[in-house]
Amino acid sequence: MYMQEYIVIQGARENNLKNISLKIPKRKITIFTGVSGSGKSSIVFDTISTEAQRQLNETFTFFVRNLLPKYSQPDADVIENLSTTIVIDQKRLGGNSRSTVGTITDVYSLLRLLFSRLGHPHHGYAYAFSFNDPGGMCPECSGIGKKVGLDLEKFLDTSKSLNEGAILFPVFAVGTWYWNSYAYSGLFDRDKKLKDYSAEEWEMFLYGKDKKFDLKTEAGAFKITYEGVVEKFNRLYIKRDISALAESTRKKLEPFMSSLPCTACKGTRLNQSVLASRINGYNIADYTAMEVRALVNVVNTINHPATATVVNGIVTRLQHLVSIGLGYLSLDRETTTLSGGESQRIKMVKHLTSNLTDMIYVFDEPSIGLHPRDVHRLNELLRKLRDKGNTVLVVEHDPDVIAIADHIVDVGPHAGTRGGQIVFEGSFEELLSAPTLTGKYLKHVTPLKNSYRISDGCMEIKNASLHNLRQVTVNIPKGVLTVVTGVAGSGKSSLINHVFLKKHPDAIVIDQSAVSSSIRSNPATYTGVMDDIRQLFAQANKVSASLFSFNSKGACDNCQGIGFIYTDLAFLEPIKTPCEICNGKRFKEEVLRYTFKDRSIAEVLAMTISEALQFFDKKELKHRLQAIHDVGLHYLTLGQPLSTLSGGECQRIKIATELHKQGGIYVMDEPTTGLHMSDIGLLMRIINRMADQQNSVIVIEHNLEVIKQADWIIDMGPDGGNNGGQVVFEGTPAQLIEADHSITGTFLRSAIG
Ligand code: ADP
Ligand code: ADP
Ligand code: ZN
Ligand code: ZN
Repeated sequence: MYMQEYIVIQGARENNLKNISLKIPKRKITIFTGVSGSGKSSIVFDTISTEAQRQLNETFTFFVRNLLPKYSQPDADVIENLSTTIVIDQKRLGGNSRSTVGTITDVYSLLRLLFSRLGHPHHGYAYAFSFNDPGGMCPECSGIGKKVGLDLEKFLDTSKSLNEGAILFPVFAVGTWYWNSYAYSGLFDRDKKLKDYSAEEWEMFLYGKDKKFDLKTEAGAFKITYEGVVEKFNRLYIKRDISALAESTRKKLEPFMSSLPCTACKGTRLNQSVLASRINGYNIADYTAMEVRALVNVVNTINHPATATVVNGIVTRLQHLVSIGLGYLSLDRETTTLSGGESQRIKMVKHLTSNLTDMIYVFDEPSIGLHPRDVHRLNELLRKLRDKGNTVLVVEHDPDVIAIADHIVDVGPHAGTRGGQIVFEGSFEELLSAPTLTGKYLKHVTPLKNSYRISDGCMEIKNASLHNLRQVTVNIPKGVLTVVTGVAGSGKSSLINHVFLKKHPDAIVIDQSAVSSSIRSNPATYTGVMDDIRQLFAQANKVSASLFSFNSKGACDNCQGIGFIYTDLAFLEPIKTPCEICNGKRFKEEVLRYTFKDRSIAEVLAMTISEALQFFDKKELKHRLQAIHDVGLHYLTLGQPLSTLSGGECQRIKIATELHKQGGIYVMDEPTTGLHMSDIGLLMRIINRMADQQNSVIVIEHNLEVIKQADWIIDMGPDGGNNGGQVVFEGTPAQLIEADHSITGTFLRSAIG
C-alpha cells in the first residue's frame, strides 16, 4: 500500500500567514518555533487542526453534523494527507468536583474492578466502588467528599481572649447573650488568649456539652446547660436545613463557612461498606490518597492470576503519570485544582495508553510548568507517541524540547504582519547555523547577573502549612525581583499564589487569564486610546464623537458593531461568520466616509500598534501606545478582539497598563509561557523596569534566563509532593550555583556555559 509520507500545505493565508507552502513528514516529531505572534498557531491550530476537524465532521451524517460546531474551511489552497487530529492543549480540565485525576485517567475504574474481584469483604459489582454511584457514595455528602460547614479559622481569632473579642461571629460578639454563656460560665479565663488554652479547655470551648452551671451576669443568675461554640453553631444553623434559613441569615453565616472535608467519610466520598473492603490492608480510598509514585509499588505487589490484566493496566497508567513528572499527584486530586501544564500532561497519559495509530497529535508548549530536570521525561513521551506510528506536531520554545525534533519549521521573521513566513525548515543541527532569530538564540549564552538591587525591608511568610508546605517561614524582599523556583509540585504556587496572596490581597497578579470578556474590547478600547481617536475624528469632521464608537448609532446595525455574526448553538461554541453588511468593518457606510488624515475609522483600527505610533501625533495617545509597543505587542492591530489574544499576550497587555506604578507588589506565574527566547529578553527588560521603580516583583519561573536575572531566589524542594514543601535555598543567583543540594542550582550551573 502506498503511504502518504507528508502532510502537504500550499498557499496558506490564515491570520498573518503569507501564502505559505510546506511539507510536514508524517510519523515524525515536527516542532514549530518562532517568536510569539509569528504565526505558529495559525499554521498548526487554525490551518491543520481546523481542517482535520472539518474533514472529520464531513464524514458524519447530516443530522450529526448539524449538532457539531461548524469549522469554516481554513484559508489555504491545498491541505492534504491529514489524519484524525487530537489537540492536547493547556486548557484546564474542566469538569466538576466529581472529576479527579483517577477518573480522568481511567485508573479509578480499573481500581474499582480490582476491588470488586479481590477486596475483602466482597462486593458484587465494580460500580459499588464508585463515588458517583448511589451504591458507593457517602450518603452524608453524596460523594462530593466535602460539606459546607463552620470554618474555625474564620470564626475565631485565637490571638485574642474572650474579652478581646476572640469570637468573630457577630451573633456571639462580646456582650451578647451567647458570649455571656461562655465568658461567665466559670470554665474559662476571660483574659486568656485562645491560643494559650490547654487541650481540655479548647475541647470544652468548642465541643463541650451537658455541663450544667449557674450563669451569673449583670442581668442576674440563670441555670443553663453548657454547649461548646461549634456544637451551638451547628445546632442553631447547620443541623437545620441551611437552604431553609432566611436569606439574611444565610448572608450573615456565609463569611464564616467553608467547604470542609465531610466528617462521615473523612473526604473519601465513599460509604462505610465500600471503605471496609480491603486488599492487603488498604481500602480504595487509601489507594487514591497515596502519591501516584507510591501507589505503583503497592499495586505492583498484587499477584493474583485473576486480575493480572487489570493490575497491568493500572500500573502502566500510573507509570505514565510518574514518567511525565506527575508522580507527586494523588488520584483523589480534583482536576479543577490542576494547573494548565499539569492538565496538559494528564491528557497525554490518556493517549499514551491508546492503541490508535496514525493519528496527528498537536501540542501547545508542553514544557510549561516543567522544571528543566523533568523536560527529558516529556521528550520520552513525545518519542513514544511517534514510535507508535503517530505524527507529532509541537509548538515549543524550550531548547531542550526543540533539540529532539526530527524536523523543525521556524516561522518568522518577526511577529504579526512582519511574520507569517517559513524562515527555516530542517534538522536541529541545521537550525543552529541558520540565520534566523531561533538559530541565533539557541547558540546564545547569557551570563549571570552580578550586581543586585538592595531590598527595602521584607515581607514575611510564617509557618505556612498549606498543601505540602512544611511550616515554611521565609522572607520575601521588598523592592527587588524575586524568582521562586523548584520542580513541579514542590510548593511554589501553594506558597505564593495561595499563602502569600491571601496575606497580601493588595498585590497585583499578572496572569495569563483573558483580559476582557467583552466581545467589543480590543487594544484601543482596553488602553483608552479609543476615546482620543474618537475625539480626533469628531474634531476633523465636526460631528459627534459617539458616531465612532462600536456600541453607538454609528455602528453597523446588522452586527451591532462586532463585525461578526454569532450564531448560538444550544450547548456548543457559537459559530462566527463575518458580517455581510459591513464586511467586518463594524461601522455604517456613512461613518466610514469620515476620515482623519485620509484614513477611515476602520482603516485606523486595522493599523498595528507600530503603524499607529507613526500615524498619530497626540502625546498622551502615543504614550499609551508606546507602553504596548514596549511589551512586544507592536504587531497587534488596534481593533483586534482581545478574545483572540494568547495567554502570553494577555499577560503582556496587562503589564503594559500597570507599568507606571510604583511601590506595588506584583506576582507573575510563568510569564515566559508562549515566549520565544528573543521575547524573553524583552520581557526581562520590562520586569527589570518594574523592579527599578521600587516595585516588589515576585515571579514563579523555570526558565533559566529569568532565574539568572533575579536579585533573590527562593528555591522550593527538594522534590515534589510529600518530598517537597521546603525552602531548600534562599539567596542570589551566584550563590545558587554554589548550592550543591539544589536541583535548580545544578541546572543553572550548566546554563552559564
Ligand atoms: P504564534 O502562535 O506564533 O504566537 P499566531 O499564529 O497566534 O502566532 O498569530 C499570528 C498573528 O495572527 C498575530 O499577529 C496574531 O495577533 C494574529 N491573529 C491570531 N489569531 C487571530 C484572529 N483570530 N484574528 C486576527 N488576528 C489573529
Ligand atoms: P508547584 O507550584 O511548585 O508546582 P504546588 O504548590 O502546585 O506546586 O503543589 C504543591 C503540592 O500541593 C503538590 O503535591 C500538589 O499536588 C499539592 N496541591 C496543590 N494544589 C492543591 C489543591 N488545590 N488541593 C490539594 N493539593 C494541592
Ligand atoms: Zn462524605
Ligand atoms: Zn456589520
